[in-house]
Amino acid sequence: MPKSSAQSHLDPRLPMVVDTTKLPRQPGATRALKRVIPAPEDLGLELIKVPEGSDVELDLVLTSVSEGVYVSGRVRGSLTGECGRCLNEISESFDVPIAELFAYADSTTEETTDEDEVGRMQGDLIDLEPAVRDAVVLALPTTPLCRPDCPGLCPECGVHFDDLPADHSHEEVDPRWAALRNLTETEE
Ligand SMILES: [Zn+2]
Ligand SMILES: [Zn+2]
Repeated sequence: MPKSSAQSHLDPRLPMVVDTTKLPRQPGATRALKRVIPAPEDLGLELIKVPEGSDVELDLVLTSVSEGVYVSGRVRGSLTGECGRCLNEISESFDVPIAELFAYADSTTEETTDEDEVGRMQGDLIDLEPAVRDAVVLALPTTPLCRPDCPGLCPECGVHFDDLPADHSHEEVDPRWAALRNLTETEE
């Protein structure tokens, strides 16, 4: 009976799968990993996300620890979105930290933790995608803004407050005054 077929789940050719065969399984051993990958789909939130297929730079260090491989470093790329107040287009870059432990199969860590607490290695392979998603998505604002003090749109007329005078308002006109005004207008 095969003991574990976990390794067959991951395809080492996938952009976010890392092969650690060249990292000595000796605690403290390190290996740098720099890779530019195409952004997967739906990397982000509703109003702001990493455009699918755009360059995402992984600038990482893999470190052997007794129970697995610790992955740390930065993830960089670009974001596009919509201002949550005025709907103007947002285009900016991100640079977020990432730090995640991946436990060896059959290690004590693997046996004593849940998969959502500590990542799992599949043989010598690591799937970075869930960790990259968490790192990027957690860093994104739920209400992205085109600039921190964006005043937004007038709720009455939908015009950007930037384009309106400071005293802009929509005062309710008393219907009787409105009728009177109509009267004077037609008389002239
Ligand atoms: Zn705005
Ligand atoms: Zn208005």
